[in-house]
Amino acid sequence: MRNMPDLGQPPDIPESALASAVALISSGRLHRYGEAGGTGGVVAELEREFAQLLGRRYAVAVNSCGSALFLALKAAGVRPGDPVLLNAFTLGPVPGALDHVGARPVLVEITEDLVIDLDDLRLKARASGARVLMLSHMRGHLCDLEALQALCCAEGITLIEDCAHTLGAAWNGQQAGTFGQSGCFSFQSGKHVNAGEGGVLVTDDQDVAAQAILHSGSYMLYAQNGTVPPAEVMARWHKRCGNYSMRMGPLVAALALPQLALLPARVADWNASHDRIAARLSAVPGFVLPMRPEAESYAQSSLQFRLPGRSLAQMRAYVDACRAAGVWVKWFGSDIPEGYSSNPAQWPGVEAIDAPRACAVQATLCDIRLPLGLSSQDCDMIADVLTAAAEIRELRHAAT
Ligand SMILES: *Cc1c(COP(=O)(O)O)cnc(C)c1O
Repeated sequence: MRNMPDLGQPPDIPESALASAVALISSGRLHRYGEAGGTGGVVAELEREFAQLLGRRYAVAVNSCGSALFLALKAAGVRPGDPVLLNAFTLGPVPGALDHVGARPVLVEITEDLVIDLDDLRLKARASGARVLMLSHMRGHLCDLEALQALCCAEGITLIEDCAHTLGAAWNGQQAGTFGQSGCFSFQSGKHVNAGEGGVLVTDDQDVAAQAILHSGSYMLYAQNGTVPPAEVMARWHKRCGNYSMRMGPLVAALALPQLALLPARVADWNASHDRIAARLSAVPGFVLPMRPEAESYAQSSLQFRLPGRSLAQMRAYVDACRAAGVWVKWFGSDIPEGYSSNPAQWPGVEAIDAPRACAVQATLCDIRLPLGLSSQDCDMIADVLTAAAEIRELRHAAT
C-alpha cells in the first residue's frame, strides 16, 4: 500500500541555494548591510530579480509578508484610528498588519467563490469613509481585478494587495500584485518560495518605495538596496521615517533567490495536483468548489471546497474523519481557534463582524495544502479520503 503523502511538506531548497547559504555563513557577513566597502549583495540581487519578475519599478525585501503589509499601509498614509477595508477571509498576519499600524478594520463580504464582494466593498467604503483597501487574495482566489481597479479609482480607494498565495497568478495576463499601489509576497515555508521567513513589497510608486526602504531599516546605506528611488526622493523622506529593523537578511535572500527560476515548474506541478483533485470532488454530490473565471490564471498550492448544509458538529466530525485517515484537512468554521486558524471573530480590533455571508461561507469551508510532487495516484488517494469521509457522515446523519 502506498503511504499517504505529507501535505505539510514544504518546497525543496535547491542545491545552489544551500551552497550559497553555507558560503555566506562561512563569511560571517550576515547583517543586512555593510558599511566599509559594503554592497547590497544577495538581498539587492533578489530585489532586482523580483522587481523584474513582477514588472514593477521597485521591490523592497523584508523579514516577512506581514512586515511588507504593515509598511505598505504606513506608506499609503494610514494613521492610528483610520478605517481600512479588509475582506473577511484571510490569515491572521493581515488583520495583524492593520493592528500594527493602528488601523480600524472595516470587514467586507466575500462571495461563495471566496473573493471580495465588490458591491459590499462600495457600500462599506462609502459608509466608513475608508480610503484604503487591504485585499487579501486568500488561498489564491482572484476577484475581477479590472473591475476592482475601476471601482477603487472611482471611489478614491488606494489598493494594497496581499499576494502571499498568488505568486505566479494573473488576471487577464496581468500578474497579481501589480494592480494595487503595493503588492506584498511571502517566502514563508508554506508559500511558493520557501526561505523559512521573508517578504517582498513591490510598487511603482517612488514615495511608497522610499518610505518602505527607510522604515525597513536602511540607515543611510539605502544606496545598497537593489531598487532605489532617486536621491532627491530619498532625501525628502529620510528624516520622517523611523528605522523599524524589518529588512530581509542575506541568508534568507540566498535561500530564496535560486527558487525564483523554479516558479513556473512549481506552479504547473501545484495546478496539476489541484485540478485533478478538484475534478474528482466536483463530481461528488454535496461538494461545492469555487468557480474559477476564465480570466484567472492561478498558482494553486492549496485546495478549497465547501460542504453546504452541514452543521458545525457534522463539519467537525468530517474534519476528524479525514485526519484520522491521514489527510490533514483544515476548516475555516471552527469556533475553537487552532493551528494557523483564521476567523474574523479572532482578529484584533474587529468590534462587530458585519459580514454574515463571509462567516456563513467559511462555516462549511475546508482546505488542504498541496505539497509539490504529488503523483496522480497520490491525488486520487487524497480525493478518496475526502469523499469517503463525507459519505460516512451522510450515512450516520441519515441514521439518526
Ligand atoms: C502567510 C500569509 C501572510 C503572511 O506571511 P508572513 O510572511 O508569514 O508574514 C499573509 N497573508 C496570507 C493570506 C498568508 O497566508
